[in-house]
Amino acid sequence: MQQPATARIGVLGGGQLARMLAIAGAPLGVRVVQLTPDTPAGEGLVDTIGASYTDRAALRELAARSDTLTYETENIPAETVEFLATLRPLLPPIPALVTAGDRWAEKDLFHSLDIPTAPFTRITEQRDLHAAAPVTGMPAVVKTRRLGYDGRGQLVCRSEEELLSAWERLGGVPLLCEAWVPFQREISVVAVRSRNGELQCYAPGENTHENGILRACIAPAPQLSQPVAATAATYVRRIMEALDYVGVLALELFQHGDALLANEMAPRVHNTGHWTIEGAESSQFENHLRAVLGWPLGSTAHHGHAVMVNLIGTHPPLSEMLAIPGARVHLYGKTARPGRKLGHVTVVTRSEAEARSTLAQLRAALEGPESEARP
Ligand code: AMP
Repeated sequence: MQQPATARIGVLGGGQLARMLAIAGAPLGVRVVQLTPDTPAGEGLVDTIGASYTDRAALRELAARSDTLTYETENIPAETVEFLATLRPLLPPIPALVTAGDRWAEKDLFHSLDIPTAPFTRITEQRDLHAAAPVTGMPAVVKTRRLGYDGRGQLVCRSEEELLSAWERLGGVPLLCEAWVPFQREISVVAVRSRNGELQCYAPGENTHENGILRACIAPAPQLSQPVAATAATYVRRIMEALDYVGVLALELFQHGDALLANEMAPRVHNTGHWTIEGAESSQFENHLRAVLGWPLGSTAHHGHAVMVNLIGTHPPLSEMLAIPGARVHLYGKTARPGRKLGHVTVVTRSEAEARSTLAQLRAALEGPESEARP
């Protein structure tokens, strides 16, 4: 007989993040029901309503089957969350979702909070691109104002001609044009804030992206000075307090020396926080559930030095991955396709030096030329 649920959470979106939220909720008796227009990553594991985000009957059903609502993607129409919020508590708050889904509004928020970013201009029509180069210099990065993720909807331009052609190549939609930042590395800080304003940060991690997609992460970020870590924590606190935020939020930053520039934020659990499943006392997924449900937060303290590698497009057979010492394998149950995140592997090591060498070995083992999607 099924145990009664301690809480029922409705999730907008049905990717791996919803799946991992459901897995984290299971020991706490939290039942997840997800609504997604796509094939869910948690098929057979998470209760699913297959419907578009604009299907009012389906949204009503999601609310009826949930006590509290949340989301795992920012690409959701504002009308959808506004409608749902009339039916059930919906967290994180809607302004966070709307801001993060709009690169212009996101930059405005950062600036209003004295959080530095790369120089940028807004592009509403092609001729605005003429005026962009003097602001950004070259190279410049052009990003669609909305609906960009995992490197989609953005181009690096190395000449004014390329910049002008970006308008058509990105579909003639409003854009953000920003300076290309010669960063030393990328870091991110994942934090959680509870309904009563308690805020905790995980140790910032160092992230490696390839083609705009997160490839790997080491957490804590090696040799991160205390002042830089404190600055990252201050920035994320400013954002969360300004938005009266509840739940997990990730802030991605470019680091150059002691300087940090905010790149973007995600108002949800985030790929750069996957290491917390094994590498922290309470994972980002559990803490997101605790926060939105009004429960006490779990400790974000890390144990050891975690390395996390994404399985993108392809991966070695499961038996090979399981043979890697210390490897904790997470497969999302998705069909292999180039550029698709199919899973991730985490290893928790004992030192920064061990984390660095383990990361290199893990990447070689997982991304080797023989790699093939044979889960
Ligand atoms: P985004 O979708 O804005 O998170 O960009 C994806 C990735 O592209 C980032 O994590 C960086 O690796 C790279 N990127 C984005 N914007 C810039 C920039 N202004 N300068 C250098 N690299 C960037």
